[in-house]
Order: sequence, then C-alpha cells, then structure tokens
Amino acid sequence: MLEHDVIIVGGGLAGCRAALEIARIDPSLKIALVAKTHPIRSHSVAAQGGMAATLKNVDDTDSWEAHAFDTVKGSDYLADQDAVEILTKEAPEVVIDLEHLGVLFSRLPDGRIAQRAFGGHSHQRTCYAADKTGHAILHELVNNLRRYGVQIYEEWYVMRLILEEGLAKGIVMYHLLDGTLQVVRAKAVMFATGGYGRAFNTTSNDYASTGDGLAMSAIAGLPLEDMEFVQFHPTGLYPVGVLISEAVRGEGAYLINSSGDRFMANYAPSRMELAPRDITSRAIAKEVMAGRGSNVDGSAGGPFVYLDLRHMGKEKIMSRVPFCWEEAHRLLGIDAVTQPMPVRPTVHYSMGGMPVNTDGQVRSGADGLVDAFFAAGECACVSVHGANRLGSNSLLECVVYGRRTGRSIAHFVQNRKLPSIDEQHYLQQAQAEIEHLFNQSGTIRINQLRQQYQDTLTEYCGVFRTEELMQTGLTKLQALQQQYQQIYLDDRSKAWNTELIEALELRNLMLVGEIILTSALQRAESRGAHCRDDYPQRDDTNFLKHTLAYYSSSGIDITHRPVAITMFTPQERKY
Ligand SMILES: Cc1cc2nc3c(=O)[nH]c(=O)nc-3n(C[C@H](O)[C@H](O)[C@H](O)COP(=O)(O)OP(=O)(O)OC[C@H]3O[C@@H](n4cnc5c(N)ncnc54)[C@H](O)[C@@H]3O)c2cc1C
Repeated sequence: MLEHDVIIVGGGLAGCRAALEIARIDPSLKIALVAKTHPIRSHSVAAQGGMAATLKNVDDTDSWEAHAFDTVKGSDYLADQDAVEILTKEAPEVVIDLEHLGVLFSRLPDGRIAQRAFGGHSHQRTCYAADKTGHAILHELVNNLRRYGVQIYEEWYVMRLILEEGLAKGIVMYHLLDGTLQVVRAKAVMFATGGYGRAFNTTSNDYASTGDGLAMSAIAGLPLEDMEFVQFHPTGLYPVGVLISEAVRGEGAYLINSSGDRFMANYAPSRMELAPRDITSRAIAKEVMAGRGSNVDGSAGGPFVYLDLRHMGKEKIMSRVPFCWEEAHRLLGIDAVTQPMPVRPTVHYSMGGMPVNTDGQVRSGADGLVDAFFAAGECACVSVHGANRLGSNSLLECVVYGRRTGRSIAHFVQNRKLPSIDEQHYLQQAQAEIEHLFNQSGTIRINQLRQQYQDTLTEYCGVFRTEELMQTGLTKLQALQQQYQQIYLDDRSKAWNTELIEALELRNLMLVGEIILTSALQRAESRGAHCRDDYPQRDDTNFLKHTLAYYSSSGIDITHRPVAITMFTPQERKY
C-alpha cells in the first residue's frame, strides 16, 4: 500500500494551488497529487478570459466590497456571503503571488497588470494573459510543484474514495499505463476533480470533465449541494460548443440576431452584452425560439445568433483575443476580422458540488463535517457562486480556496496518524468491478448509451425547465441507467485501456445527471441559472436555501442548508 501525508486528487488550478501551499508551509510533508490526465492537460488549462481581482490598476474607484456585491447579485443572492467576502478580499494578494511565481499576465503600457471588463462586474477588474489565462497560470503552478518535490501520479484514474465511519482514509487508483491497482492511505484526502460538463451533449468542457469526484463522494454517502445550478455559457461556437470567451464581449464584441439587431437591449439594457451569463444565455435561447436566430445559409429562423467582432478591428482582435480568432478559424474556417461567428449557449460550469466550509473541509450535512476530507475548485461548493457564477470568478475561487484548503490541510495533518485500511478488501472490490465490466455480455456500446444520456439530460434539464418536462426526463434517465448493465467492452487489455475508463466515467456522469435533475425538480422557483417556466419568480420565502442531495441505491433524498447572509439583503435582480 502506498502512503502519503496528503493525497490530492486533481491536477487543475485548485489541486495544484493547494499542493503548493502545503509544500510551502511544511516542506517535510509527503504530498501526492493524482490526476487521470497529465496535470497540465486539466481543464483549467483551457480557461481563457481571466481572473477577477480589485487591483485597481485600470479603475481606482473599484473595491473588494463592489466585487463582493457584484458576485452576490450575480449569484441571485444564493451565495454564502461570508465565503464571498473572503474570495474578494484575498483576490489581489493571490494574483500578486501568482505573478511572483512567474505567471505572465498581460500588461498596461506602464507595466502594471492589465484588467478588462467582464459580464456582471461593475468595474474593469479581470486580470488576464491574452485569452490563454488558464494556460499561463497552470504551467507555472506545475513547474513550482516539481521544484517543491510534490509527487505527481499522472494518468492514474481514481476509482474510489475510502471513507469509513465518517473518516476519509485514502483512495483506490488504477494506472492507465499498465492496469495496476493501488490503494493509497493518507492523513488527509482532498478532491479537486473539476466539473461534469460531459453529462450534457453540448459543452465547453474537456473530455475528462465527467464529475468523477462528485460521483465518488455521493456513492460514499456524502451530500452534493445546489446541483440544479448548471451554467450555460452564452457563446459556444455553433455547432461544436467550443468556448468563445466572454473576454471577446469584454473587449467590445456585439451579439446580433438574424435582423442584425443588438437584441440584448431588450433583455439587459444597462449591461447589454456584458449582462451575467444566465440572462444572456436565456436571451439567446429566446431569440432563437422567436425565429430570430440565423441559419448557416444566412436565412432567419435558425439555431444560433452571431457574435460580431468586425468593428473591433484586426489589431485589437489579434492582440487581445487571438485564441478565439484561432478557434473559429480552425474549427469553422471563419475569419472573425471580416465575418461574425455563429454562437449559442453551451454547458460550461457547475455552480454546485461537494459542500465545504471556508477552510475547505467537506460537510457531511447541514451541520457536521467529514473527518480528514477536503475539497476545492469546481467540484466543491463553498458557495461563492450561488445560483449563477460571474465570469473570471472561478479561476479566482480555485486559487483563493485552493490556497486556504492547502493551508488548513498543512495544519490538520500535523498531529494525525496514518489510518489503517484493509488493503486486500479494497483491491479485490476494485478488481471485481473491472472484471464485471469485462465479463458483461451486453449489446450496447458505451458511446451509444452516453450519447443518449447526454441528449436526454440536455433536452429535459436545459436552459428552460418545467415539472412535466423534468418528470418525463427523470423516467427516461432511469431507463437509460438500467442499460448500463448491458454495455460491452471490446478491449480487455491492461495497457492504455481507455474504453474501461470511459465505462467508469459513464457510470459517474449518469449518477451526477440524476442528481442534477432531481435537485432541479424540487426547486419550484426560478433563480439564477435555474429557470422554471412553471415557477417564473424567485421565491425567497420558500427557497432562499441551499439544496443538499443524498444519493443511495434506493433513490435521492433532498434536505436543505441555510444561506449565509452577512452583507447584502436580497433584492430584485435587474441589469
Ligand atoms: C473553456 C473554458 C474556459 C474557461 N475560462 C475561464 C476564465 O476565463 N475564467 C474563469 O474564472 N473560469 C474559466 N473557466 C472555468 C474554470 O476554468 C474552471 O472552473 C477551473 O479551471 C476548474 O479548475 P479545477 O482545478 O477545479 O478542475 P480542473 O482544471 O477541471 O481539473 C480537474 C482535475 O481532476 C482530475 N481528475 C478528475 N477526475 C479524476 C479521477 N477520477 N481520477 C484522477 N484524476 C481525476 C483531472 O485529471 C484534472 O487534473 C473556463 C472553463 C472552460 C471549460
């Protein structure tokens, strides 16, 4: 059995920032960072537009309080305000710290870090590295982990969280290279496993965003919080869903319908294209439903609207958002200097996740905590985003709460002993699970079932929801889940068996999808990204509270947790 003081699952921004903090505080600790991809291929590397912090380099009237207010208003008042206060107060120092680590942020002419406008933010406060911000930050963090001697287990797939009697003891992991299984025990376990975009059929997320950490935690009997809040990013490139960053609108691009009108004037006149994502995504969906979308041949009545950069000019496009130009050119052959880009909403971000407190400790319910178990980043819900996240607040959350969680782990493990684990028991169970999949004599291909599942979740739990639609969807999802017993695998080899990994991931995304839909069904109101046609109003009397969903083989139970309201009284949300 392998042993470490700390195991971190996830090599994205949250996992890497936590590992760095632990190593800085106590270099003698044995830290393991496990990732099913190479760490620098984590989805964080794809983050484009930037990271918010009130450095006041462009706008000296900005303040952490203004950032906090924008975040809470953006969240439709569901965010925990104590967590938002920490996020926004610590933002400037974590950006400066990244800069000292070597992150190459874009600059103002006087050499200070540049800051751009972003949706829902009242001031220009988003720091960036052109439109490759995640790349710039993640590469520097991984370099630094090597310097500190953090042991990186890359391309190991974690199959299971070992949790016994409320204590997290370790993990079971599978090596993609040769099929080896290993049990690892540690004094503290942290999950930083990212989102679940692949549960839907159109997403900006990478192939690895399959909600594994969320599923493992739910299977271990722990709750998932606010899973009904799925963020649709307004500008996924049509038809592929690949992201065109909000930075493009931050730099001045327009959204236009088939008549060439800037339709955001009818939905958010004060913010126009820089309204928050939930509002902008719904506006695009409504334009399309009203027949004002476009078709590829230029006619009206089609499935997308246009993102128009032409007035920005070549120089600005190429210096500020070169990657977005490249993506549209590479994937669709469109030259954004002279042609508008076809876009429509794409599944982008998970506001919900594993409930944690502001030290990154995972909650076992409305009151208790799980011993020795921590989480941060997109898989966690400390609830700084509530019902709708503002762009450029997620990288910030990963770094602020990655650092805080790392700090609390470094102190937590000091007086702890390694737990005892029945290694053989866990190895045999993992082996049996794999053999079972190999021996299944079904007729259904993994990609066929996955596609059906993704299509169903997208159709029945998309931008607009109703009770009737979601009830039908739930029945369909449950029927598809039964078919998991009938998938078959061609590849039974031990080396690089990606088909086996896809089978394990499919189980996870199916479980996460059911929790999303069940959580959405019980929330009989519209708030942030959760929009119910049958309950169009926000209902603070009955639903100003967090959802906690518990999975078990007999069904999903829902309870609630109060929202921390410490600074701003809920008001109507208008832009
Ligand atoms: C295209 C795109 C652009 C974005 N742009 C921005 C932006 O400009 N600003 C902003 O604030 N936010 C942005 N976001 C959101 C932000 O990038 C993510 O929320 C954030 O990077 C998530 O980081 P993370 O560390 O939580 O997880 P990730 O970076 O997703 O990393 C997850 C890690 O977990 C590992 N993992 C998962 N499951 C397992 C398993 N079973 N076993 C082993 N390892 C596992 C993966 O290998 C990976 O290393 C963007 C997102 C996308 C998709």
